[in-house]
Amino acid sequence: MPHAKHGLRLDLRTLILVLCAFTALVMLCASYFASYRVQRQLLIDHALEANRVYASKLAAITETFIGNALQQLSFSAGVQSRQLGDGAALQGETDRVLGQSMAFNSTFVIDTNGVLLAISPAPLRHLVGSRMQSPGVQEALQARSPLVSTPYVSAASNLVVALSHPMFDSNGRYLGYVGGSLYLRERNILNSLLGEHFYKDGSYLYVVDRNRRLLYHPDSQRVGSVVQGNALIDQLTTLGSGTRQLTNSQGVEMLAGFANVPSAGWGVVAQQPLAQTVAPLSHLILNVVGTSAPFALVGSLLLWWLAMTIARPLWQLAAGARSMDRAGTAERLHRVAAWYYEAAELKRALLFGLNLLQERIGRLNRDAQTDPLTGLGNRRGLDFSLSLLEAEGRAFAVIALDIDHFKRVNDSHGHEVGDQLLRRLAELMRRCCREGDLLCRTGGEEFLMLLPGASLEAAAAVAERLRATVQATPMPPVGAVTVSLGVARWSGETGEPGDALSDADRALYQAKQQGRNRVTVT
Ligand code: GH3
Ligand code: MG
Ligand code: MG
Repeated sequence: MPHAKHGLRLDLRTLILVLCAFTALVMLCASYFASYRVQRQLLIDHALEANRVYASKLAAITETFIGNALQQLSFSAGVQSRQLGDGAALQGETDRVLGQSMAFNSTFVIDTNGVLLAISPAPLRHLVGSRMQSPGVQEALQARSPLVSTPYVSAASNLVVALSHPMFDSNGRYLGYVGGSLYLRERNILNSLLGEHFYKDGSYLYVVDRNRRLLYHPDSQRVGSVVQGNALIDQLTTLGSGTRQLTNSQGVEMLAGFANVPSAGWGVVAQQPLAQTVAPLSHLILNVVGTSAPFALVGSLLLWWLAMTIARPLWQLAAGARSMDRAGTAERLHRVAAWYYEAAELKRALLFGLNLLQERIGRLNRDAQTDPLTGLGNRRGLDFSLSLLEAEGRAFAVIALDIDHFKRVNDSHGHEVGDQLLRRLAELMRRCCREGDLLCRTGGEEFLMLLPGASLEAAAAVAERLRATVQATPMPPVGAVTVSLGVARWSGETGEPGDALSDADRALYQAKQQGRNRVTVT
């Protein structure tokens, strides 16, 4: 059950990669979005400002034009006021003003009663002598000062704006005025000034008077009409100069710059559709994406490498943890490059745990194969050593040992003293053999010695030395003790190693039979 889902579980490397990819994606999208917003606002601000500057420039030009035109009329008014009775002279001066510049579509003189005294160009001359009823004439007569009229329909059925200058005699008596008109629906100085500037990006220009009536518009059909529902136009003449993002009367979002013409009370508006202004954005953003793509790619590769580098030690440690019971794990764990804190701590803990585990297992193994009384091997230890020798096919000699009349020791001195004697004997056995020899206590007071690689003679010599040493060593309070020994050998080639043990036992039995305290070799 605990291992059932192993294959499906995500590993740290994948998780880090997913996290990195997600973060990178979010950051990219955020920066693209931010870039989009910034670029868009830049385009809008730039368009608004450009339109404002443009509207201001054209408003200034228009203002200058009106100033010049009124100046011409002022001069002409001086001349005409002195020759009001002379029809031919009046007409001559009127023709001169019309011809002097491109300022007017028509020029005329009107007396205090509104009667037309002279007019240019010639085709209108039939009107001379008639009384003018149009609102523009009434407005000028009432004003008695230099004036730019509101648009009106003239006697010749033109939609006009008239500029006028009053005439006075030397006593300051009002004599009427000289005027010049612009035909709004025909080619005039205003559309010459304004109409030349037509941008390709959908931007256009219009001019309104203070009553929201269009004086100039690229769509000439709309000239003369009053614009309704345009917040900018409603406030235009009071606002001066500025910018505005607005929806025009056709429902199109516009970026407008505006300025006014103070002497006439007109407003000039330059505007362009928002959609057309921000149209280059998609191209800009594609550019941004294209430019950042190589960096994003390099960044991703770097992230991938970093994810690998971070995950690798943990992955290796996890593999080590999974195979704690296998050989070589400690070496593998030692080789893990734990280059950061958590990995280093885990590595340390794993190695510590592994050490502890192996130490415990080793101790348990040793304990399981050790006789607690003497510290020599027990029967399990003997079996293990025999199996190793057999597996290696290594010859060994074996000495079986039994204490003579041990029962008596127990009987006369007690079990404790018997045990003490067993421990001392074990010590003597240790001294008589070499390193690599294996000593076992196989029964109560019976011992075995395995001497790997030893010949029968050498083993017999060891047995004899041991026998003599035991005999010569006093064991208080018992006194001298003797042992009987049987020696045998396994060649490492034929038969079972266990046979050699039986042979040694038999030899020991013979030694007992032959009077004890002796060595018998098979
Ligand atoms: P022999 O070998 O010379 O024929 O005589 P023996 O008296 O030694 O006879 P045997 O080898 O049969 O003796 C076994 C005795 O060893 C029985 C018991 O009193 C004693 N013995 C066995 N195990 C222990 C032990 O663990 N501790 C002590 N103190 N005595 C033991
Ligand atoms: Mg015995
Ligand atoms: Mg005995």
